[in-house]
Amino acid sequence: MERCKVKIQGFGVDSFSFDEAVSYILEHKGIVITINPEMIQCARTNPEFSQIINSADLVIPDGIGVEIGLKILGNKVKRIAGIEFARRLIHEFSKDSLPIAFVGAKQEIIGKAVENLKKEEPDLNVCYVQNGYFKDDERVYEELKNANPKLVLAALGSPKQEFFIKRASELLPDSVLIGIGGSFDVWSGVVKRAPVIYQKLGIEWLYRTIKEPKRFKRIFPSLPLFVLKVVREKFIGVN
Ligand code: UDP
Repeated sequence: MERCKVKIQGFGVDSFSFDEAVSYILEHKGIVITINPEMIQCARTNPEFSQIINSADLVIPDGIGVEIGLKILGNKVKRIAGIEFARRLIHEFSKDSLPIAFVGAKQEIIGKAVENLKKEEPDLNVCYVQNGYFKDDERVYEELKNANPKLVLAALGSPKQEFFIKRASELLPDSVLIGIGGSFDVWSGVVKRAPVIYQKLGIEWLYRTIKEPKRFKRIFPSLPLFVLKVVREKFIGVN
């Protein structure tokens, strides 16, 4: 399977379906970026982050903002929720009991998330668990390398998690690594995902903002501004 990328704000996004994206990364390994408008905005002013996205092995359109943006630009690409993609990867790796590392979130959250996942995936092979509030990065990289996971799930928030998986990928060249934001919070049962109707309509962000009003600052004005920038890109090009 060949990659077919479509561009938005200067960043390539893979146009695979969910299942194709899973097959592709299982075969090729490497870094998966779950791209959203906030990450694009951040990467446009952060060349190092931008480089990580552009050199990633797979970039999936996580969130309605990127799907809408791509549609404005004439590309019909269906969004792939990062949390669902990561959950499927856990399932695929667990089928063969391949070792998985969990890095991120608060200690009790990550503990509970792993415990819940173990109940759903009896053959889950957890080789490393580290909460996301460490200061001694070198220790974590060293331990991760020794644990030798085939899948690394990093939930440290963006862009911290992408910088983390980039460095980790140099130590684990034969692994799949993905940054998954608040997924451990959801798997722990502490944070509820939006009801399916919100997910289907692509307005999960609205539900999360209602539940957690401090997220408002993150979404507005960044989401409408992003759409405006894409409209500008359509007619004038990326500035
Ligand atoms: N987090 C972490 N270390 C940090 C900052 C954040 O482990 O230094 C965790 C945080 O506990 C949460 C996740 O990163 O579990 C990011 O959550 P956020 O809501 O920012 O992610 P989103 O899904 O919005 O990308």
